Amino acid sequence: MNIDGKALAQELRDTLAVEVKQLKDERGITPGLTVVLVGEDPASQVYVRNKARQTQEIGMISNKIDLPADTSQQALLDQLHRLNSDPAVHGILVQLPLPSHIDEALVIETIAPEKDVDGFHPMNSGGLCNGDPNALVPCTPQGCIMLAKKHLGDNLSGKHAVVIGRSNIVGKPVALLLLQESCTVTIAHSRTQNLPELCAQADILVAAVGRPEMVKAEWIKPGATVIDVGINRIPTDDGKGRLVGDVDYAEAQPVAGAITPVPGGVGPMTIACLLKNTLEAARRFG
Ligand code: NAD
Repeated sequence: MNIDGKALAQELRDTLAVEVKQLKDERGITPGLTVVLVGEDPASQVYVRNKARQTQEIGMISNKIDLPADTSQQALLDQLHRLNSDPAVHGILVQLPLPSHIDEALVIETIAPEKDVDGFHPMNSGGLCNGDPNALVPCTPQGCIMLAKKHLGDNLSGKHAVVIGRSNIVGKPVALLLLQESCTVTIAHSRTQNLPELCAQADILVAAVGRPEMVKAEWIKPGATVIDVGINRIPTDDGKGRLVGDVDYAEAQPVAGAITPVPGGVGPMTIACLLKNTLEAARRFG
C-alpha cells in the first residue's frame, strides 16, 4: 500500500491552521516566516513559491527576500542580522544551495537558533543529538517519522531501521529521530558493503541518497515500511523528464508493507513540517 504524503500533509496543515488562529486570538501573535533566496535557481524558485503559498493558506505571514546571485556574503549576513532582531519574524529560512562564493555553514550559524526553522543550526542539531525537546528538528526527517507512524502507529520501539544516506539535512537527523523512537538504527552510506543484504534486514527502510531507483525489490524485507526521500529527475521521450525516488517503486511496491510514492510522499510533508516549526518558534519566542 501507499503512504499518502499529500493527504497527511493536508491533515497537518489543517491542524496547524486551527493552532495559528488560536495563537492569534489568545496572544495576538501571527507567526511570520521569511524565506531568503539568493540567485535565480529555477527549482529553488518553485520551492520558495510553494512555501509562501502554503504559509499564507494557514494564516501565517509569509515574506520573501530575493537577493541577486552576486550578493556578497557580508550583505547576506547583514540581512540575517536584521531578520534576527525583527520581532515580527519568527522563522528564517535561507534556501539552499547558495552560490559557491558564500560559506553555507557560516550563513546557517548566523541565523538565530530560535528562528532556525530548517533546524540546521549547530545548536539545533546538537539539541537533537542530545534529545533536547526544545530543538527545532529538520523538516524532511520529521516528515519521514510521521509517515512511518502513519502506517505503523506511534510505537516504533525495537524495529530495525536502516537509513541509506548520512547527510546533515536528511540521513543523520532521520537516524537520530529513529533512535529517539527506540528503533535499532543502522546508517548506510556510499562506502557501506553488502548494502542490499543490509537493507533486506530493515523493518523500516529510509532511502535518502539521490540516485534514481537504486533500491530494488530484493533489497526490501517483505512487509517493510519504505520511506523514499529521493527526488530525482530522469529523462523521458517527450523531453520533460519525470520525477522518481531512490527506490524502484514499481518493483518495491508489491514487496513492501507500505511505501511512500514520489512525488506525493515525503515532499509535501517537508513543507508542512516547516510550517509546524514556524508555529512552534512563534509560540516559544513570539
Ligand atoms: P546528499 O548528496 O547530501 O547525501 C547523499 C547520501 O547518500 C550521502 O550520505 C552518501 O554517502 C549516500 N550515498 C551516495 N551514493 C550511495 C550509494 N551508492 N550507496 C549508498 N549510499 C550512497 O543528499 P541529501 O541532501 O541527503 O538528499 C538525498 C536525496 O533526498 C536527494 O535526492 C534529494 O533531492 C532528496 N531530498 C528530498 C527532500 C524532500 O523534501 N523530499 C528533502 C531533502 C532532500
